[in-house]
Amino acid sequence: MSTNGSKPKFAMYWASSCGGCEIAVLNIGEKILDVDANFDVVFWPVAMDAKYKDVEALEDGAITLCLFNGGIRTAENEHLAHLLRRKSKLLVSFGSCATEGCVPGLANLSRPQDILDTAFGTLTTDNPQAVRPIYDYPAPEGPLRIPVFQAAVRTLDQVVPVDYYMPGCPPESHQIAAVVELVIKALNGQAELPPRGATIGAGASTCCDECPRERNVKTIKQFVRIQDLEQIDPKLCLLEQGLPCNGPATRSGCGALCPKVSAQCIGCYGPAEGVVDYGARLITAFASVIDAKDPAEIERILDTLPDPTGQFYRFNLAKSLLRAGRPAWSQQ
Ligand code: SF4
Ligand code: SF4
Repeated sequence: MSTNGSKPKFAMYWASSCGGCEIAVLNIGEKILDVDANFDVVFWPVAMDAKYKDVEALEDGAITLCLFNGGIRTAENEHLAHLLRRKSKLLVSFGSCATEGCVPGLANLSRPQDILDTAFGTLTTDNPQAVRPIYDYPAPEGPLRIPVFQAAVRTLDQVVPVDYYMPGCPPESHQIAAVVELVIKALNGQAELPPRGATIGAGASTCCDECPRERNVKTIKQFVRIQDLEQIDPKLCLLEQGLPCNGPATRSGCGALCPKVSAQCIGCYGPAEGVVDYGARLITAFASVIDAKDPAEIERILDTLPDPTGQFYRFNLAKSLLRAGRPAWSQQ
């Protein structure tokens, strides 16, 4: 990859997300100095002042590496996705929101109008005049515009082609540091980048493969919440203690952080390699620990899961087979 003698350009953008991905990047410690030493940071709204027109003025493909976090929920998110795709050589779908919709994607279960009514019209909002967003407002000083709230959350690759996927909510800082190092080495001709479309900064197996807990020794008669267990066996698989742990369907890469401290994996690293639909794979894994053959009994045990949607699709509803075909709500 040629840099034409000058430093390659770096950009990072947040679309519909919480900002945790940005913090995870800043959390790579002194490696952040390598970013500064090896790149010209041309656009990173959370860290520096730059205008959209500065990005628009760049030649197409001028940005070598762009980390794009956040899903696509507004017209502004969509505009920036197209703009940064055009201006970037390597566009990385960075973090769970960009890659699979993440928690904001759960809003695809609700109609846009209902979301706005909840945000602007429930008890916790002081809004006596029942004001709602006005996307185009003819103010005396000139027209005011805010980005249109779109019909559903989409992933970045449902809007533009991406070069790499980096999962995690947020991606682990040591994984980010490794990816930055790899890109820098590739720029200097000392390493090869993986093939386009690859998942980077994560493992190729499951969270269970990184988890030290003992598996396949017990089956369960019900699922339980963590607060309902009197004691957690420190060595036994959490799923086999009745805690709905998402490890079997989740991509490795975090080092099984949560099960190591007796909290179940909730799936923030997204589907493991080769998993087409995360929820479907997880249901299969859960079924394998249920101690029942009678369908009614299996149903009863599954009914002890307190929040099936959150359990199976907390991070990837927008990317799942259930929501991949078209926006859930095509009418605003
Ligand atoms: S299901 Fe959870 S606790 Fe059990 S081995 Fe997998 S990651 Fe560990
Ligand atoms: S154990 Fe699961 S929820 Fe916890 S950090 Fe790892 S992938 Fe995310």
